Formats: sequence, C-alpha cells, structure tokens
Amino acid sequence: MENGKMRAAFFYGKNRPIAVEETDVPKPGSDEVLIAVKACGICGSDLHIVFEEAETGFLPIILGHEPSGVVAAVGHNVANCRVGDRVLVSSGVYCGECENCLRGRESICLHKKFLGIQLNGGLAEYMLTPGKNIFPLPDSISFEQGALITDAIATPYHAVTKRGKLKIGETIAIFGCGGLGFHAVQIAKICGATKIIAVDINDVALQRAQKVGATDIINPEKEDTVEAILNITGGCGVDLVLECIGSQKTIARGVQSLKIGGRIVVLGLSPQNINILPPDIFVRKEFSLIGSSAWERSEIKEIINLVEHKKFNLDLSISEKFPLSDINTALQRLKDKEGNPVRIIIEPNANK
Ligand SMILES: [Zn+2]
Ligand SMILES: [Zn+2]
Repeated sequence: MENGKMRAAFFYGKNRPIAVEETDVPKPGSDEVLIAVKACGICGSDLHIVFEEAETGFLPIILGHEPSGVVAAVGHNVANCRVGDRVLVSSGVYCGECENCLRGRESICLHKKFLGIQLNGGLAEYMLTPGKNIFPLPDSISFEQGALITDAIATPYHAVTKRGKLKIGETIAIFGCGGLGFHAVQIAKICGATKIIAVDINDVALQRAQKVGATDIINPEKEDTVEAILNITGGCGVDLVLECIGSQKTIARGVQSLKIGGRIVVLGLSPQNINILPPDIFVRKEFSLIGSSAWERSEIKEIINLVEHKKFNLDLSISEKFPLSDINTALQRLKDKEGNPVRIIIEPNANK
C-alpha cells in the first residue's frame, strides 16, 4: 500500500481490453473491511461482461467476484475479523431486510449486488467488502482454494443441495462439466448419489469428471444423450438433472432424461428461451424445472467445513495462475477454453 496507491484492473466497456492502472487504495467505512487480495478466480460471468452484453453497476469498474486474501484494515463496527486474518470474500451483497432475505432466501435478495459486477471487486491489490461478507479461511485451505469456494463450488452447491434437493441414493446427470459442473460432480458424491452421469462434448472434461466421482460419462457428439442416460438408469431416467450450460437444446435433453417426477435445475445463463416439452408430457410426468442463482452465506460456511475435512478433491480445480498484469491473456484463454480450464486464478499481489 505504498503512498496509499494500488494497481487495479479496470473494465471500461464491452470488447475493450481491461486496463491495469494505479488508483487510490479505498478506505473502509464503519461496516467494511479492506482486503489485500491474494487470489481471485475468473469465470464465465466475467466473459459475459467483457465480451457480451452483461451489465455492470458503473464504468469503469474493477471486476473480480471470486476473491480471497488477508484483512488489511477493519471498519470500527466490524467485529468478526482482525488485521492479518486469512479470509475469503463472498461477493453477493444481500440487504438482509427484504421479503426474500427475511424468508432465508438471500440468494434472491431483491436488492442484491455483487462485488466485481455491480460494485468494485477483487481484480486489484486491495478491495473493500462489507464485514458480513468475509469468512475465515483455515490454514489448511490455500488462498486459491478459498477463491474456488466463493463461486465455482458455492454456485453448484446451492443448485444441487438447496434447489435440487439431491438425496442419498438418487441419480443425477450433470450437463456441462467445466468449472461449475466439475465441482457439481463432487457435491453429488458428497450427497450420496448412486449414479453421477457427466455430460460434456469435451473428452478431457469428461475424464476429469470421472477422476473425481462421475460414475458414467457421455459425449453428446458421439452418442445420443437421452438414450445413453436411459440405458444407464435401466430405462427410467435420472432423479435430477443439473444444467450448467444454459442452452435450449441441453435443457430439453435434460428434461427428456428425467425419471417421472424428476427435477431439473438450470444454472447456465443465456438469453435463449427455454423450450422443452408439450405440457401434455410435462404436466403428466410432474416434472419440476427449477432456476438456481448464486448461493447463501450459510452455504459458504458449510463448504469451508467440507473442504477443510478433505471432502473435495481440488487438485485438478486450478488450471492456471496469472499476475494481475496478465488479466487480458487470462480472460482470452478462458474464452478460447485453451487447456480446458476449470478455474483460472489471478494473483493481484503475486509480485510482492
Ligand atoms: Zn464466477
Ligand atoms: Zn434482501
């Protein structure tokens, strides 16, 4: 924090390169904490912002919604941390007062904002966060793994457990085995699913899914997905489908792969309409089509506990690490899927 200055990655608008510039280190308000960012993941949501139409809160903005680091300064009302603590930052800022927050559904808070999307985020040497958004990181969990927990694990965790309600002995098919799907496989295993069917057009992603618990793999470019899922499940289909892509085609295939009474959780984002089955079939089979967005802070706590107790295999989760100065290269590699990344991590303080 020399002279109160830091380097931060500013996004100025669609399809413009991110600019790494010097700016003032922000000062925490009374309920805020200043974090020296050690690791920050980048994901498909960042690609939507940088290369597509997804909106940010303002411009230029500091992106980065998957951060972990060390507490550098603490506002006077914040009691849950001290300077020097290792923490991760849950980027969803929920109001705590709206109808949904009060019902315990903070992931659909009516006033939710995300650090790194609507507010400045973690692609900087320092970032501000509300004190209620930080969680202690045990020494056994690295900063990179902490960054994974914030979204790459938390998003599918919420989708599979809270929204999909996957139970012991059930079967699941996971469509799309990149960053979210890869961790969803492990979450399904922790939940006690008996069949975990990974579906992806990329053989490397499928093999990786198999290493962490997928019982069966399907490449839709090589075989008919619905037929293959029916074969694997003795003709009846799966209890739960997790759709991580957001494509009309895969959502439809997902519904067709369900057991009677089955449920499909969609967490893939896209502007395409959902177009699945005639109501004659959808209604009679009592299917459930469920959306899932982000996570709740209580789930972050549960995941930290699971990671601490080695319930996840995160050896294959971090594909590459880059310093902040290479942010454009990192985003391009993620966009091109170069090296089939699960997560790419940026280390804003790597050169210190
Ligand atoms: Zn993300
Ligand atoms: Zn709220």
